[in-house]
Amino acid sequence: MRGSKLRTDEIHELFARLAELNPKPTTELLHGSAFELLVAVILSAQATDVGVNKATRRLFPVANTPAAILALGEEGLKRYISSIGLYNTKATNVIAMCRQLLELHGGDVPRTREALEALPGVGRKTANVVLNTAFGEPTIAVDTHIFRVSNRTGLAPGKTVREVEDKLHRVVPPEYRLDAHHWLILHGRYTCKARVPDCPRCPIQDICRFPSKTPAAKTR
Ligand code: SF4
Repeated sequence: MRGSKLRTDEIHELFARLAELNPKPTTELLHGSAFELLVAVILSAQATDVGVNKATRRLFPVANTPAAILALGEEGLKRYISSIGLYNTKATNVIAMCRQLLELHGGDVPRTREALEALPGVGRKTANVVLNTAFGEPTIAVDTHIFRVSNRTGLAPGKTVREVEDKLHRVVPPEYRLDAHHWLILHGRYTCKARVPDCPRCPIQDICRFPSKTPAAKTR
């Protein structure tokens, strides 16, 4: 799966091209506040953004604050999210998370990694997404797409998610760090796909070190 490492000038060029194609990238999870984003990210574990959006489009107009979701109760919340995988566990976590936000943070989403990761259902990846997308911190949440793209291209090869995250922090140029997470996710989701990457139409094909690029005839 892995290619060799990219040079600094190649990394600059890679991000310059992704930035040119999509100057203002953002998450595809629908949200209108830090709290809505936090709930959506918790619901998105092992689920698609499209599936989560379908549920939150109905949930958020009814309940989009910790107090309102607590008032729904666990069973009430499940009625909105039952189409999403692992919804039982996610409902338990979201209710416990709302309770903790009210008890410890006055109902607000905390802005520190430590406080975010202490919330039920919130791990490092979720904290990174919220810090980046809600609060503008230059964090990089490594999901399956970023892990794959970082390894295939040679941008930040690593055996574990944490190794890739740490390498990305070292190699991504500062001017691209805030949006790197979204550029890489979208690139992995729509171009550098898991099963058959769309190499013939890839904007960074000449930079990428993946040794098994898809030939044109195999992408259809
Ligand atoms: S050339 Fe292929 S493997 Fe490399 S980044 Fe593009 S789509 Fe992915």
